Amino acid sequence: MIQDVVIVGGGVIGLTTAYELAGRGLRVTLLDQQQPGQEASWAGAGILPPAHPGDPTHPLATLCRATNELWPSLSADLRETTGIDNGFRRCGGLGVSEIGDTESLQFEIEAWQKAGVTVESLTAADIEKCEAAVSPEISEAYRLPELAQVRNPRHLKALLVACQKRGVDIHSGQRVIGFERHDTEVLGVKTTHGLYSAGAVVVSAGAWSQELLQGAGCQLQIEPVRGQIVQLSCPQPPFRHVIECGPRYLVPREDGLVLVGATEEWVGYDKQNTAHGLQGLLTFAERLVPSLKDARFERAWAGLRPHTKDGLPFIGEVPGVQNLFVAAGHFRAGLHLSPVTARAISQMIAGETPDLDLAAFLPRVAEANGEE
Ligand SMILES: Cc1cc2nc3c(=O)[nH]c(=O)nc-3n(C[C@H](O)[C@H](O)[C@H](O)COP(=O)(O)OP(=O)(O)OC[C@H]3O[C@@H](n4cnc5c(N)ncnc54)[C@H](O)[C@@H]3O)c2cc1C
Repeated sequence: MIQDVVIVGGGVIGLTTAYELAGRGLRVTLLDQQQPGQEASWAGAGILPPAHPGDPTHPLATLCRATNELWPSLSADLRETTGIDNGFRRCGGLGVSEIGDTESLQFEIEAWQKAGVTVESLTAADIEKCEAAVSPEISEAYRLPELAQVRNPRHLKALLVACQKRGVDIHSGQRVIGFERHDTEVLGVKTTHGLYSAGAVVVSAGAWSQELLQGAGCQLQIEPVRGQIVQLSCPQPPFRHVIECGPRYLVPREDGLVLVGATEEWVGYDKQNTAHGLQGLLTFAERLVPSLKDARFERAWAGLRPHTKDGLPFIGEVPGVQNLFVAAGHFRAGLHLSPVTARAISQMIAGETPDLDLAAFLPRVAEANGEE
């Protein structure tokens, strides 16, 4: 039977897209080379920023505004459908700079102001009142009251159940190795187990998308960037806000778990934790919140973020290759941008006019020669 849509990759992007498409009444098959929801989408920290800092007309600013509008309703729908609370909460965020570096903080505050979100400058006394656990050595900070978080493993679980309830046909252990084509039209995908025909194919294979798309003559640059995370636990949550310092952060969960993230490493498809990576994260955590030295070490992991050269994800149909869509390359923001990405791809496939201008995210193809 020809399915309407085959989705390749069951991370947060593929699962949310499957959920949206099935909600529009399309028949959807989702293929993953392992169990869905085990890669970057599981490994992430689940920080959902209130905006894209800086120029409010930047394409990513538009995408962020739209995705932030979708998170509350998507979370409520998933809870109603599955009974699973994905942990979506507006916990707020604190931005701090490296101890002694106050210049970068002012720059960040201005970028958030430019983006049009509420940002409050905090003195040392304000910080103590707001989050007493933060080191007294941090004398300046800012607060983003609208920053939110989601517990991504729970969100993925909810998406999986919700997809099943909407009739999405999910196949684990199905590695897609190529595309079935006629001239410039994609007719389906080839897996290690056989052929899946489709009216449309969506590639949402995260950091693995580049090699896959080469098989369709589509040269998109998407590289893996490793991020390591340490999970600690405390008897009580030691603070309420997500605390960010440049690319590193502390994320408190309501049950006392604290995530310490993350490294940014260009080491190919290597997902191991390293002594250097973990040591750096633990030192960072203790410097920011000294009481974390007594926290219990629970575990550590790493995931591979899909990075594109210009920092913009690919969202759209591959030019010159009919019926082949890409939703990949979201780097550090794939959880955050998953609702809007899924909405946009679903609108395109369902023949609706996307409610956002997606020109900046169209896949840019170096070569489309009709070969498989
Ligand atoms: C440490 C870390 C922290 C992060 N923190 C945040 C955060 O706080 N907020 C945020 O918004 N984002 C965060 N991110 C980024 C976010 O996790 C990613 O951008 C997002 O998960 C990408 O989702 P995806 O669905 O594209 O990819 P993935 O989740 O990697 O899913 C891709 C799927 O495709 C499957 N696949 C690959 N190749 C094939 C094939 N040939 N055939 C079949 N299946 C295939 C894989 O098995 C996998 O299941 C973080 C990432 C990391 C690593």
